[in-house]
Amino acid sequence: MSTIKAPSLSSLHRETRLVHSGTLRSQYGETSDALFLTQGFVYASAEECAARFTGDDPGFQYSRLSNPTVSAFEQRMAELEGAEAARATASGMAAVTAALLAPLQAGDHVVASRAMFGSCRYVVEDLLPRYGIASTLIDGLDLGAWQRAVRPNTKTFFLESPTNPTLDVLDIGAIAEIAHAANAQLVVDNVFATPLWQSPLELGADVVVYSATKHIDGQGRCLGGVILASQALIEEQIQMFLRQTGPTLSPFNAWVMLKGLETLGVRVERQTANAAAIADALAGHPKLARLVYPGRADHPQAATVAKQMRGGSTLVGFGVKGGQAAAFRFLNALKLVKISNNLGDARSLITHPATTTHQRLKPEIRAELNIDDGFLRLSAGLEHQDDLIADLLAALDQI
Ligand SMILES: *Cc1c(COP(=O)(O)O)cnc(C)c1O
Repeated sequence: MSTIKAPSLSSLHRETRLVHSGTLRSQYGETSDALFLTQGFVYASAEECAARFTGDDPGFQYSRLSNPTVSAFEQRMAELEGAEAARATASGMAAVTAALLAPLQAGDHVVASRAMFGSCRYVVEDLLPRYGIASTLIDGLDLGAWQRAVRPNTKTFFLESPTNPTLDVLDIGAIAEIAHAANAQLVVDNVFATPLWQSPLELGADVVVYSATKHIDGQGRCLGGVILASQALIEEQIQMFLRQTGPTLSPFNAWVMLKGLETLGVRVERQTANAAAIADALAGHPKLARLVYPGRADHPQAATVAKQMRGGSTLVGFGVKGGQAAAFRFLNALKLVKISNNLGDARSLITHPATTTHQRLKPEIRAELNIDDGFLRLSAGLEHQDDLIADLLAALDQI
């Protein structure tokens, strides 16, 4: 494993780490991060090659194992998150799957909050049990439910917060305590919060996963993911699985993500300000049945938001009165906000979860998750907030 790293900038501010962490310049002194689009590496001698394989020489061997551009992205993510180690993956789902599957074996048990991204739910509910790893889905807002779900063989707790798409906020610190008392590890999918607004490792989580596809790229180009944890956890539980099974991030995508991180701070701040302004402009609108925004005083878990998040959210959830027909009329009347199941983009995007991201679930499960047919999830982009609010209000008039 390569140990070639840039000097740590962990003592500097987050904004500075986003731009400079992980950069190790080549002999040409390039300004931007170099893109090492190479599968492998050559060695000056057979002895050097052999030393590379024993680990006595800290260089690169093969890009499935590590690559200079991917390592730079991993180091920038680790320093941003306050993690000892990071491993990049080809997508967010590769990160979630590896983080859950790699440390476990047949006979183990996982407890997870039932409100989560559709593909994560597939991994927990359908995939793990096929390999003898039992799972229990619970209402993650109910701390007693986590406690009651624990079995002697429980090894992992898994949650996302804020949840997709209903933006519930789970108490990460309290859930980490229950996990650790049960000798289980807590894995947190931090996509919706972004590294800017929430640091699960500081709150007690053991592993953090991201889909870098969302805010980290932030401009709708590449898929990617990352797993962050202590050096020991990554080395003992994750690394061998990634090396040998190969869900590797391409160096090109790592380069795009590095460039994305440089602007992550300003983008997420602007998107959050836009989302907050939209939430305030829409709250109480007569065509809406409800609105949920982490950061508003009327959020059901406002106290937890204040305790564990540094900012609100780039996402707003709201339900229109009149079910799917009204929701579709509203979506089709939007001119600026685009209909898309993605999020975290420079463009404002809106999705109807009941017919897209959560359509696979039975209606009674959607009801349990509070995803009704009038519910919409808006991801605020970088446009001027007045243009976005005007577009949304005009479309509400069309219902
Ligand atoms: C998008 C997303 C994922 C999956 O990421 P991909 O990069 O699409 O594989 C996982 N969790 C959450 C919360 C997401 O929003």
